[in-house]
Amino acid sequence: MPERTPAGLFEGILLRRGDPGYDRARADAVWNGLTPERFPEAILQAAAERDIPLALAWARAQGLRVSTRSGGHNWSGSQLRDGGLLIDLSRLRHCSVDPVSATAEVGPAVTGTDLVEALAPHDLAFPVGHCPSVAVGGFLLSGGLGWNSRVWGPACADVLEIRAVTADGRTVICSETENADLFWAARGAGPGFFAVVTGFRLGLHPHPAAITTTGLTFPLADVERVTGWAVRTARDLPSNVETALVLAASGEATATAPPGRGSPSVPPRSPRHGTRRSLLSNPWVPARSPGKPCPGSCPSRRPSPHCTPALLGRGRRRIATRPTRCGRRRATRP
Ligand SMILES: Cc1cc2nc3c(=O)[nH]c(=O)nc-3n(C[C@H](O)[C@H](O)[C@H](O)COP(=O)(O)OP(=O)(O)OC[C@H]3O[C@@H](n4cnc5c(N)ncnc54)[C@H](O)[C@@H]3O)c2cc1C
Repeated sequence: MPERTPAGLFEGILLRRGDPGYDRARADAVWNGLTPERFPEAILQAAAERDIPLALAWARAQGLRVSTRSGGHNWSGSQLRDGGLLIDLSRLRHCSVDPVSATAEVGPAVTGTDLVEALAPHDLAFPVGHCPSVAVGGFLLSGGLGWNSRVWGPACADVLEIRAVTADGRTVICSETENADLFWAARGAGPGFFAVVTGFRLGLHPHPAAITTTGLTFPLADVERVTGWAVRTARDLPSNVETALVLAASGEATATAPPGRGSPSVPPRSPRHGTRRSLLSNPWVPARSPGKPCPGSCPSRRPSPHCTPALLGRGRRRIATRPTRCGRRRATRP
């Protein structure tokens, strides 16, 4: 039964500690399964914007502090606080595109994949996060360095307007001309933002001819040579090429390409010492051809375009993804 609040009924579901579904909602609030030992008193799975002022009023009446989550990709899990109310915005996932004005209205839980899939038919693009399951909520509030950001700049620069519910329960529009101070803060405050964002209006870019990604993996023993090569190479790359050097503990092997294919022009070692894979799943390939269940550790194990070669199928833009694991993985505590 939905919980009665001081001002009416929630459209979403309010789960208190001990309720069935509470543990699942708490675990789902942190993307990688490293759920901290912190327990909100209640979790509201908001179904619509109108739930937010109600939730704030209810929290005030109960003397609870409030935290929020959109996609749950905060590394530290700070959305989980002891004794508070967690407002779970993951159902606010609406996304509509206006190709004429090249703008989109999106809910805070819209992921990179959601947005790319919505924009692809219109030949439009947005610098979504590199991990396809990162939601725009936390990503845009913290600035957002996404795909092609060396050309397009930080993603928050393409936010035209936000809708937000302030602590006193007012729903406000914020832009350069309206509530400009809140709008300024919303583009960089990150987890410190002091209102609940229920929607973003985004300015979009014409889609470049292609967006592709290549990953190369080398043994840790090669770190100095690889780093030297990467730094030298990155200096001369045009701005529409971005590089990332990731140091990671080794895990199970993922897909490889035949030695020599797709390797850098001056590899630090012969390519046979490195495996080629996509380090970050490529959100730029809409699901056109559902494939086999992911053989990796995606918890959903759903067919994914990131798990099988897929074609974008639009003439010159032919992007093949390589088999890779989903960025989200269930980890175990050491
Ligand atoms: C695998 C991975 C890859 C990443 N790749 C990139 C990348 O390429 N570029 C980049 O810039 N960042 C990247 N990040 C960082 C990511 O952008 C941030 O962690 C961001 O906060 C995630 O957004 P979220 O909505 O999923 O997170 P959440 O955990 O839901 O939110 C993080 C915090 O932001 C605040 N918040 C979220 N939504 C709202 C809202 N609607 N209203 C008010 N406050 C809100 C809350 O305080 C919340 O605790 C990555 C993170 C991960 C885990």
